[in-house]
Amino acid sequence: MVVGTVVDESGLPPLPWLAQPVAETLARQRGHALLLHGAEGTGTLEFGFALAQAWLCEGEHAQGACGRCGSCRLVQSKLHPDLMVLLPQALRWPLGWLLADDKPDDDKKKPSKQVRIEEVRAAIDWVGKTSSRGRGKVVLLHPAEALNLQSANALLKTLEEPPPGTRLLLGVSDPALLLPTIRSRCQRVPLTPPTESEALAWLEGQGVADAAVLLAAAGGRPLQAAALAAAGVDGAHWTALPRAVARGDASVLAGWPVPRAIDALQKLCHDAAVQAVGGRPRHFPAAAMPASRGSAALAEWGRALARAARHDEHPWNEGLLLEALVSHGSRALTLRS
Ligand SMILES: [Zn+2]
Repeated sequence: MVVGTVVDESGLPPLPWLAQPVAETLARQRGHALLLHGAEGTGTLEFGFALAQAWLCEGEHAQGACGRCGSCRLVQSKLHPDLMVLLPQALRWPLGWLLADDKPDDDKKKPSKQVRIEEVRAAIDWVGKTSSRGRGKVVLLHPAEALNLQSANALLKTLEEPPPGTRLLLGVSDPALLLPTIRSRCQRVPLTPPTESEALAWLEGQGVADAAVLLAAAGGRPLQAAALAAAGVDGAHWTALPRAVARGDASVLAGWPVPRAIDALQKLCHDAAVQAVGGRPRHFPAAAMPASRGSAALAEWGRALARAARHDEHPWNEGLLLEALVSHGSRALTLRS
């Protein structure tokens, strides 16, 4: 399953809940620097692409990009000369939005998660040149929290006073993660997440089975639910996880990347704590939940998980780490009620 990031020839954004915010933003926002913010996994990046594509579109586009004109074709083939997409390597390499000297296949180093100073400087030089197709230029920077201090400072002057006809779109999960100097130079555009029924309809349209279980697993964030499905996690597997952990059986996480495994264990720990005080679990079906051995045991497990989450590049064996965390979980949970 491949979810597109741009408006295709149908003229519709890849995520249906973006259509209205795109039309509203095009109608209302006159600022040259917009800060698009919405929870991770709800489509902030796709929102940015849809706005950039609409501004550059040469067809009929009252509500958004037409998807069929020369400009839209160039965006779809990732070759538009007036669109600069500035993503950290860890995001742009898998998406294929490469910068001029990118060589992801030859590079032995881990892809960077930061937007680096030389990349920001190249973007500033680029906006200073004339637009190739005459509809202005757009820089899409995502996620803006990937700017380090140096690259954020380099961007300030351009954000405050971009060359005429230039627009900047910054995507972020939470504006509080940005320097105040960046925030104050942008107009904020919040992205309302889809309703549960919109998210479920979209997931089912993508062929995701057990959409409701996976949407809850992803905390209501549809793109993360789709990513879980794409990684081979299904509803039965997710539902079996709490009892397996209570038994101390780490094989349920076999083959999972460490950050995803830790995230799942943190959700289980959270749900067990909520359930211990009479609340409804949020990420796992209530019927799948084991009982807990009390809030002190859960809190201690939660702290061990938080420590592991802070060091997502572990020097030691990942399998051993997960076994230790699951074993710790089995001491906080019980199958007896
Ligand atoms: Zn178009």
